[in-house]
Amino acid sequence: MKILVPVKRVIDYNVKPRVKADGTGVDLANVKMSMNPFDEIAVEEAIRIKEAGKAEEIVAVSVGPAKAQDTLRTALAMGADRAILIETDTEVEPLAVAKILKAIVAEENPGLVILGKQAIDDDSNQTGQMLAALLGRPQGTFASKVEIDGDHVAVTREVDGGLETVKLALPAIVTTDLRLNEPRYASLPNIMKAKKKQLDVKTAADYGVDIAPRLKTLKVSEPPVRVAGVKVADVDALVTKLKELGVA
Ligand code: AMP
Repeated sequence: MKILVPVKRVIDYNVKPRVKADGTGVDLANVKMSMNPFDEIAVEEAIRIKEAGKAEEIVAVSVGPAKAQDTLRTALAMGADRAILIETDTEVEPLAVAKILKAIVAEENPGLVILGKQAIDDDSNQTGQMLAALLGRPQGTFASKVEIDGDHVAVTREVDGGLETVKLALPAIVTTDLRLNEPRYASLPNIMKAKKKQLDVKTAADYGVDIAPRLKTLKVSEPPVRVAGVKVADVDALVTKLKELGVA
């Protein structure tokens, strides 16, 4: 079985995003970028399935700027076998990414596509679901456990109030949640080896996909600044204060 893992280059999760002065978006100039954390979990899961002898090849794919090659090299250094970059300088919405992935699935025919549950920059949580719908394939989203069993995969999902396990017929789509695994760090020898692994660069046009945006961002603004708290002497003072503030 082949596993396809889409990985997105996003602003590093440790960086505090700054909104551009003109309110058109987040300032990404000179900001550290990394692989979307949920996608690291997806790469790790694919590697574990391969290590368990249940997959033969892992293909990492990214839709993004030339710099997204770094993200793909990270996936290769972790243990992916081969990578494909669909290079574009425009921002690509989940539907367009899903359409490109659909075309790659048609070419590569993977038994599993493992995506992150969401990209931490747009927080869309849409691409995996859209891909499953476009392909007409079963989906197990927010996975906290993935078990391949012959021609099926059991996916334990984190849902409100507990865990749900669904059994999907392969080929299928899975999206990862935070508790699925702890991604490994790439060792130095593997980082060196990754430089020699195959990385193909293509464009959306190669797959006949129109990536023109369907959405228009009207405004991006900083969240309201939190006001400092106040200390009160006792319960009476607290009640008085709450009444003053109109919350009691
Ligand atoms: P989203 O629907 O944007 O929250 O993204 C969900 C998942 O889809 C991500 O965790 C990635 O696995 C995948 N994905 C989204 N955008 C891209 C992209 N530009 N390139 C590769 N994978 C992507």
